[in-house]
Amino acid sequence: MRATGNWAQGRKVTVIGAGIIGISSALNLQRAGFDVTVIDKEPPGEGASSGNAGIMAPCAFVPVPTPGIVWKAPGMLLDPMGPLSVRWSYLPRMLPWLMRYLRNSSAKRVEKIAAALATLADGAVEEHQALANGSDAEQWLRPATYAYVYESEEDFKKESFTWNLRRKHGIKINILRNGEVQDMEPSIGAAYKFAITLDHHGYVRDPEQLVKSLARELKRAGGHVLHRKVRDIEIGPEGPTQLVTDQGNLDLDILVVAAGAWSGKLASRLGSPVPLETERGYHVVLTDPGISPKVAIMSSKGKFVATPMTMGLRIAGLVEFGGLEAPPNYACARTLLKHAELLFPGVNTKDFTEWMGHRPALPDSLPVIGRSPHFENVYFAFGHQHIGLSTGPKTGRLIADLVSGRTPNIDIDPFGVERFNS
Ligand SMILES: Cc1cc2nc3c(=O)[nH]c(=O)nc-3n(C[C@H](O)[C@H](O)[C@H](O)COP(=O)(O)OP(=O)(O)OC[C@H]3O[C@@H](n4cnc5c(N)ncnc54)[C@H](O)[C@@H]3O)c2cc1C
Repeated sequence: MRATGNWAQGRKVTVIGAGIIGISSALNLQRAGFDVTVIDKEPPGEGASSGNAGIMAPCAFVPVPTPGIVWKAPGMLLDPMGPLSVRWSYLPRMLPWLMRYLRNSSAKRVEKIAAALATLADGAVEEHQALANGSDAEQWLRPATYAYVYESEEDFKKESFTWNLRRKHGIKINILRNGEVQDMEPSIGAAYKFAITLDHHGYVRDPEQLVKSLARELKRAGGHVLHRKVRDIEIGPEGPTQLVTDQGNLDLDILVVAAGAWSGKLASRLGSPVPLETERGYHVVLTDPGISPKVAIMSSKGKFVATPMTMGLRIAGLVEFGGLEAPPNYACARTLLKHAELLFPGVNTKDFTEWMGHRPALPDSLPVIGRSPHFENVYFAFGHQHIGLSTGPKTGRLIADLVSGRTPNIDIDPFGVERFNS
C-alpha cells in the first residue's frame, strides 16, 4: 500500500469536471498533498451541480425505481402533471438502458442498491461541513429539518417499502398529523394532513455558489482551475499521457474523470464503456414568492422539492428522458409552478426563472467510484444520479483515499466500473 504525504509530494492530479463531485475530489486530493488541476468547459458549479434542489440528504439512498414502478410508469407518463416524461424520438436509443433500469426495481435488487448507497449518503451534512470548514463555502450550508408532506396517512403508507428501508438503515422519523403539519410550516396548504420530518439533514442556500466557493478555496491553497473543454485523451502503453483540449494539450500524471453526465465518452476512451444516461431535471425559482418556508419540503404527491434559497424559493424535480443534446422543454418546468400553488396556496408564482440540468445516471442507480481496471493512474467518479450533492464530499474523500493508497472506510466494491465490463 502506498503511503500518503511523501508519495503524493510533487505528483500531479488532473480532474475533469468542476461540479460538486470533481471539486470535492480535487479539494480532498489537495489536502492529501497532491498538486491538483481541475478542467471544465464551463466555470465551476454550472452543470447539474448548479440547479439541484440543494438537499443534503442522508435518507436519499433508496433508488427511484422501486417495486411496482413498471406498473406506475405508464400512468406517470400519461399524466401532464406527472413527474416523468420522455422525448419519444429518443426512446428507441435509450430502450436498452430503460430495460436494465426497470430490472433493478425488484425488492431484492433495491435492498442491495440501497444498502450500498446508504453508506455513501450517511453523514451527508457533516461531510459537507468538513469539506467547507474554514472557507467561505461554510456560509451556504444550512443544517435543518427535512420534511416529506402527504395529503393523508394512506398516501404515506403507499410508500412503506421505501420508509421501511430507510428505517432499517437507521433513519429516524418524526410523524406530524393534521394541524401539526401547518404548525411546522404555516405556508403549507390545509389539504396536507400528514408529514414526516427528519433530523440531521440540511440544505444548501445556493448550490452553484457552494461549488464556486470550494473552487476558490482550491485555488487559494495553490490548486488550478482551467476553463477548457477536453476533446480527447492521448493514451500510451502505460496509460493516458495527455489531455487534448480546445486550447492545446496538457500532460497527465494521474487522471480523475468526474465529468457528470458527460463522463461516458471519456470512460469509453479509457477502455471502460458504461451505460451512462442523463435523467434531465428541472427547476423554477420563485423570485418573489410572498412566503418564506423555513425548511426544505418534499411533496410526495408532486415528487418535487421546495427549498428556500438566497435567490428565492426553488421548486425542483421531474425526470425527463431525452439525452444530452435536446434543448430544454420548459413546459415541463412550468408544471412545477402548478405543483407549488397546490402545496402553498398563498404563493406568488408570477416571477420566476427556469433551468434544466443533467443528472448522470447508471441503470443500477449506483455511481462509478474507483480505479480503472486498465490503467493504474486513472480513477472514475461519476453517475451520482439524484444524490450527487449529498454524496459529493464523501465521494471526494474516497477518491483521495484510493489515489493515496489508503483503504476507504466503506465498501466501494458495489461502485466498481468492472460491473459493466465483466
Ligand atoms: C432537478 C435536480 C434536483 C436535484 N436535487 C438534488 C438534491 O436535492 N440533493 C442531491 O444530493 N442531489 C440532487 N441532484 C443531483 C445532483 O445535482 C447531481 O447528482 C450532481 O450535481 C452531479 O454532480 P457532478 O459533479 O457529477 O456533475 P456536474 O455538476 O454536471 O459536473 C460535471 C462537469 O463536467 C464538465 N464537463 C463535462 N464534459 C467535459 C469535457 N469534455 N471537458 C471539460 N469539462 C467537462 C461539465 O461542464 C460539468 O461542469 C439534483 C439534480 C437535478 C437535475
